[in-house]
Amino acid sequence: MCKITKKFVFSEKDDGKRRLICRECRRETLHSIVYSYNERGSQDCDGGYSVDWDCKNQIIQCLGCETVSFRTISTCSEDMDYNDDGMYYPEAIKYYPGRSVGLKSIESDLLPYNIRKIYEETMLSIDNKQYILAGIGIRAIVETVCKDLDAKGSNLFDKINSLREMSIVTSEGANTLHKLRVLGNDAAHEVKAHNSQLLELAMEIIEHMLDGTYIIPSKVQHVFPKNG
Ligand SMILES: [Zn+2]
Repeated sequence: MCKITKKFVFSEKDDGKRRLICRECRRETLHSIVYSYNERGSQDCDGGYSVDWDCKNQIIQCLGCETVSFRTISTCSEDMDYNDDGMYYPEAIKYYPGRSVGLKSIESDLLPYNIRKIYEETMLSIDNKQYILAGIGIRAIVETVCKDLDAKGSNLFDKINSLREMSIVTSEGANTLHKLRVLGNDAAHEVKAHNSQLLELAMEIIEHMLDGTYIIPSKVQHVFPKNG
């Protein structure tokens, strides 16, 4: 019968600074490790076989925006890899809340409510590496924008072309929207997970479109209100 043993220890404040991903700054910034609660465990099985693991549970703080969050760093004797120096145990690092580098969050409170909800959930999917849902979300944003702008046509292909004819998007913009349409098709119908680089690029394009269609016009309206 297997016997599991675990030991937990608090680690003193780590004075070293680390470059970690900040959810608010959306890039790597200097962080301090505020506290670490470390678990070390092992499971001894019949035949002298054992599995060992190690997990650091850390409270971290960005030294730029001062946001506090959480990360875990774990290794397991069952997960090993090799490099030029020989065998090693790769660290699995998870952040809570999830986050991604590079994507800037737009001022989503200036978007129409239904577009804002889909946009925010799609961003959450990317931050938490839910890439199938993110692909479906990207297509849903394109569809909802077409509906909101009253694009004509019975399918998304025609509606995107209608946006171009209405001069809401340029020819290049329409071509890009068609690429996103296919991206969402693949995710929805073939349950295909896209890689994070492709999805982050797709979101950058979506943000550019939302910025030009809703956010900048809303700011212009605020700064230069219509007379009467
Ligand atoms: Zn920060």
